[in-house]
Amino acid sequence: MSLANAPRPLNKLLIANRGEIACRVIRTARRLGLASVAVHSDADALARHVREADEAIRIGPAATRDSYLNVAAVIEAARQSGADAIHPGYGFLAENADFVAACEMAGIVFVGPPASAIAAMGDKSAAKARMDTAGVPLVPGYHGDDQTDEHLQAEAERIGYPVLLKASAGGGGKGMRVVERGAGFQAALDGCRRESQAAFNDDRMLIEKYLTQPRHVEVQVFCDSHGNGVYLFERDCSVQRRHQKVLEEAPAPDMSEALRREMGEAAVRAAQEIDYVGAGTVEFLLDADGSFYFMEMNTRLQVEHPVTEMITGEDLVEWQLRVAAGLALPKSQNELTISGHAFEARLYAEDPEQDFLPATGTLSRFALDFTGAGLDPDQVRLDSGVEAGDAVSMHYDPMLAKLITHGDDRDQALTTLNRALAALDVSGVVTNRAFLQRLASHPAFAGAELNTRFIEHHEQALF
Ligand code: ADP
Repeated sequence: MSLANAPRPLNKLLIANRGEIACRVIRTARRLGLASVAVHSDADALARHVREADEAIRIGPAATRDSYLNVAAVIEAARQSGADAIHPGYGFLAENADFVAACEMAGIVFVGPPASAIAAMGDKSAAKARMDTAGVPLVPGYHGDDQTDEHLQAEAERIGYPVLLKASAGGGGKGMRVVERGAGFQAALDGCRRESQAAFNDDRMLIEKYLTQPRHVEVQVFCDSHGNGVYLFERDCSVQRRHQKVLEEAPAPDMSEALRREMGEAAVRAAQEIDYVGAGTVEFLLDADGSFYFMEMNTRLQVEHPVTEMITGEDLVEWQLRVAAGLALPKSQNELTISGHAFEARLYAEDPEQDFLPATGTLSRFALDFTGAGLDPDQVRLDSGVEAGDAVSMHYDPMLAKLITHGDDRDQALTTLNRALAALDVSGVVTNRAFLQRLASHPAFAGAELNTRFIEHHEQALF
């Protein structure tokens, strides 16, 4: 069905983002017959997303706060172009409740959840309190209002060391510190507060039991505006560096059907508790004994959504647009099944030899020769924000592309990932490709010996 005849008709979509996600959203918009509008900063005037959209509008200078984070400029671009909806991608304005309200005021459809759902999950402490009420299991911890040093330390002692201090307002791994014992608590608290204040202008803390070797397993959920909610299974994102994801896969290895259902249903419950609409991800920590605990909910499309698309055969951006247009979810829970296995590797312009310092330059080469490398286009996907000849500046996130592979089973998908990584022809800018290759070919990774300290544990082989 055409979105032009939907309850909330959509004809033209503005993408308030850049890089690979903007290009990826444009692709689906085009397939669905929507015109696409790119926005760009001065630094991105020649960027790939600008080249690929039907129209492009400048929204400001290079600095993100003056361009991609500039609510007024983005809304004005939508008005000017006559776009009836805005897709925020991830990052930038995707989880900004004020931006959602501004879209509403301007009569523009925001492709994402209502402002109230974003606000409910925006603060980790408030979100945990809410989830507790909904019966979603939490990591043992403290997320209350008494923020005095004495009280927080008493709570840490009650929880039992090691504990993890987390900024309530945190994200992106910032404002987080492990405390091994009471003697180190005060210094860690001071440090965390400083970091959180600087990054989020807020220094409230929560405390969690620090699980020593958990897995990060997250559930993709989807809800429509008619009260339907489903889960599109889970992703394992345990391979992280400094709490940031590097390699992801779906489904999570070694999950029983019972646990998959239990986590899926808990995730849908979490979403419905806050009257969620659209694509969302509920992140859990999974302990070795099969216990799982709610960490947070991301109220947007995730970077790693393609692995879910590969195993379900669904286009999540299409689902987002349909839901935004007021249509019902295209499938019910029992119509969704898992087929095979998928991986995603994040290719960054960064130098693993220099503590992952972001790299810049001009990409003299950037290509994946499918035929030459014997790669099946149905099983390999390169979601990229760049092409050969493009400049990589220091203004934005250094992620260049995502390499996604599918196979009948985990071994096959991994073999294909290794082949595709080797076949990727990239030069002119330093990347983490060799690091990804060492990770993806490591025997412990092949053996699915996953936990969030994987990189730390195998440091010698990886660096
Ligand atoms: P952020 O929002 O900054 O990304 P999260 O709360 O999502 O922070 O946590 C990021 C990562 O930190 C998780 O994926 C996990 O690896 C680790 N982590 C978070 N909470 C705990 C915990 N209680 N115990 C052990 N590791 C944790």
